[in-house]
Formats: sequence, C-alpha cells, structure tokens
Amino acid sequence: MQEKTVILSQNNSARTHKQRLRWLLAVSSVPLFGIVAAFGIVPKELPLNLPTIEITEDVVLPAALSSVNNPADNTISIWHVDQVYRDDTLSSLLDRINIRNPEALTFLRQSPDARALSTQLRAGRTILSKTTSEGELLELQFQNDINHALVVKKSSDGYQAQEMPLILESRILVKSAEIQSSLFAATDAAGIPDQIAIQLANIFSSDIDFNLDLRKGDRFTVVYEASFSNGELINTGRVLGTEFINQGKTRSAILYHDADGRENYYTPDGKSLQKAFLRSPLEFSRISSGFTLARFHPVLQTWRAHKGVDYAAPTGTRVRAVADATVTFAGGRGGYGNVVVLQHAGGISTVYGHLSRFAPGVRKGYKVRQGEVVGFVGMTGLATGPHLHYEFRVHDEHRDPLKVVLPTSVPLPTESLAEFSKQAEPLAAQLALLRGSNLASLE
Ligand SMILES: [Zn+2]
Repeated sequence: MQEKTVILSQNNSARTHKQRLRWLLAVSSVPLFGIVAAFGIVPKELPLNLPTIEITEDVVLPAALSSVNNPADNTISIWHVDQVYRDDTLSSLLDRINIRNPEALTFLRQSPDARALSTQLRAGRTILSKTTSEGELLELQFQNDINHALVVKKSSDGYQAQEMPLILESRILVKSAEIQSSLFAATDAAGIPDQIAIQLANIFSSDIDFNLDLRKGDRFTVVYEASFSNGELINTGRVLGTEFINQGKTRSAILYHDADGRENYYTPDGKSLQKAFLRSPLEFSRISSGFTLARFHPVLQTWRAHKGVDYAAPTGTRVRAVADATVTFAGGRGGYGNVVVLQHAGGISTVYGHLSRFAPGVRKGYKVRQGEVVGFVGMTGLATGPHLHYEFRVHDEHRDPLKVVLPTSVPLPTESLAEFSKQAEPLAAQLALLRGSNLASLE
C-alpha cells in the first residue's frame, strides 16, 4: 500500500494546506507519472485560501477494466511507487518492486537501452512499476536524471526502453513529526523522504548524536524543497530550515547562501552549526538506526569500565573521522583489533577499534577531513559482536566522548547578519507556525 501525505505551505502564509491520498491498489493502464492526476484526486495546485483539507480515498478499479491493455487477461496490474535507497543494488531494487519474470529481469539488467537503470541508481530517485499480480513487468518508469525518465514497456515484441522528458514543479514542503522509536520511524510516519532524514542528522551532527541522543517525545519540523510531476514526488532537494527539540532542548538551523555562493546552516542568531568536531563517529543511516532500534540504547558498556564508548552497529557500517586529522596509526593492535588512531588539532586524538576493514588510503600520515570515512564497523580483536569502540583523548588522557565539551563555532561576520536575517525570517516564521501546532491534527 502506498500512502502519500503532501503538506503545502507558502512563505508568510498563516495557513497550512494538507492533502492526503491513500491508495491500496491503483489498477489502471494510465501512463505513469500521470497516475495520480489521471484519477483526479490531486489537483495540480491547491487553492490557497482553504483551511486544511483532507481527502483519504482508496482506489480500486474493477479488474475487468485493467485487462483492456493487459496482455495477461484475468490478472490485475499493480502500480508500485518506490525510491532508490542508498545501499540499493539493481537486484535489491527490482526485487523490492516485485518484478519476477526472467524476461524482464534480463532486459533490465542487460539491454543497452536500459543501461540508465544500472548507471543512474542514485538514492532518492523515484521508480514506478506496473506489474501483474504474478510479478510480470508491464511498464516501468525510472527517473534517470533531473529532467528525464527511462520508460520501459512490454509489447508483443518483448520489452522496449526509451527516454522521456519530465515536467517538474518545485514546491516547498513543511512537515512535523514526533519521535516514538527512531528518526526513520518518525519520518516514515510523516511521509518525509530518507534524504531529508539524513540531511537532518548531518545538519545537527555537531550537537546531536542521532544514534544515542534521541528520545521518545523529541519532535522536529522541517522545511524542504521538493519537485513533483503530476502530483508524484520526483525529487527532494535541500532542507531550507529546521527545528529539532531533543530532550527538551530546541535547536534551529537555517540554510544561508552567502555572497560567495557558499551554503551553510546557521542558528537563527547567526552562529554556524558546523563545528570542529562531530558528536558521533558513526554515520547515521537507516541501517545503523534499524540496528539500534532493537536495543534502544546501544551503549554496551559504560565509559568507566573501559575508557571508551561502544556503539553497536552492523558490520560494514561506515565510521567517520569526527574532525580533520592526521592518521597516526592504522593496523591491528591486540584487543582493539583493526584500529585507526587520529591526531586532531589542540592535542586531541580519537581511536576507532574493532574495524572489519579500513577505508582505502587510510594509513599512517594520511590526512582526513571531518566526516571522511576511515573504516567500517566489525568485530576484530576482543569483541563479542559487531560494534565500534570509540575513544576520545586530550593530551593522551581519556575523556568521556559523550560528556566532553567541544570547541564552539565561529559566528557569521557582522556585515552578513542583515542579509542573513532577510533570508532567515520567512523560514523562522514557518518553523514557528508549526511549533505550537498539534501534531495529532497533522496526522
Ligand atoms: Zn569498547
């Protein structure tokens, strides 16, 4: 079942417009990307002065109708709308969208005309497929770049692929959600795309450890760009502004383009959110988040016991440098197993143990940038399960990385503040608008 929630909002508008659509089986032979509009459920533009509107409708067309253009009579065809995830392979994607017939699989994997599917498999791209209930592919559309879709159709001569232009409309969406179990569970429930969840984790990565710090009841609002074609979400863009209430503490971030064309996130009073150190050495992802969901608090051992923090995470999860550094050690060392030691400015060093392997090029003397992957979670050395052992040292003295006070960041120069405020105000107003709203009414 596909469920879509679209919340439209305009800058400086005091109203939020909401349209909700649910379909169980959309059975048709309507051209893809036009499916929603073709049923007349989602108007291209919502009237701006209406109060919240909500339409929930299950669309099930009679099976007889579907067999009109359907080579396999007496079967129903099913539209499946999905997106590419970061770790998807062509096989995992085709499996998830339920394509089962060998002829289609061979065509999609091997035909030069369908090559874009393999070469343009980027996270966040939309894929729409129409299959029979037996998994025979009838039609597929894949957004292969910002303006084009690869369209594959079954005909009497087998499958054919062709590139078609996409007509996109840009919109700015505002959504709110409350954390019940994990960030992804919350973003899924609110219909917020994965790339936006990942951007949120990155924006606040110097302040919030998304693998350890989130609590039930935390909530957030996010304003972001999206492009649609006939009411179907095709692309998500940047987060323009966000507010995150974590353990009772409110943090806001506003995207600011400076005069030199650089883009960075700042607090509403103009302090950069990008700091010298990241809160967590583990890259936040659906995989690491899903893993920690099983044990909501993933710290296996306390700081006092062994002068480090252990992050439970699946083997292969990316481990990143928390700050710019020089590698002083990368190799096997006793109970640590495969370990990377980084030397940062100010006499600070960090240690990453039990790695399954190192990132390419990571060896003594190699310079890494903040956020660069240095290795991958494993269970080498003395480890009973896959986890990252992480240490933070100041002049070789161990400090608790969860408590250490990290250097703060530089504010915007005074001469930029006026321009920043001009960009920030409408976004801050959007965020304020949803701050007081009842989340339940939005769901
Ligand atoms: Zn440990």
